[in-house]
Amino acid sequence: MNPDHARELLTTELAELDERARFAGETREEASADTLGQEGAMGQHPGDYGTEVANTMEAELLVDTVAVQRRRIEAALARLDEGTYGTCSVCGTEIDDERLEARPEVDTCREHADTPVTA
Ligand SMILES: [Zn+2]
Repeated sequence: MNPDHARELLTTELAELDERARFAGETREEASADTLGQEGAMGQHPGDYGTEVANTMEAELLVDTVAVQRRRIEAALARLDEGTYGTCSVCGTEIDDERLEARPEVDTCREHADTPVTA
């Protein structure tokens, strides 16, 4: 994998994540504002309360997912700077381009794809 190309992929993904994070953050704020607004309004729309809570939880989850993914990409960019990008953190094998093209932030080869990263 060409480092310049890898950086381009990672930077693009980071920009998309920021966009999603912004959206998720807004959704969470709106959802929790709605939920708070319904306190004391018992009986008006009993069915809506559960929906709002579900939306809040979904937004929370999305915010968390985006945060985790963001850290992974930032770590990959750091590996690019160090010159260790594109090699498996478990066995040191070069990760094939096809895998990096699909998921530029991975730091394990296919064989170690499920190995939990402890770094
Ligand atoms: Zn490996």
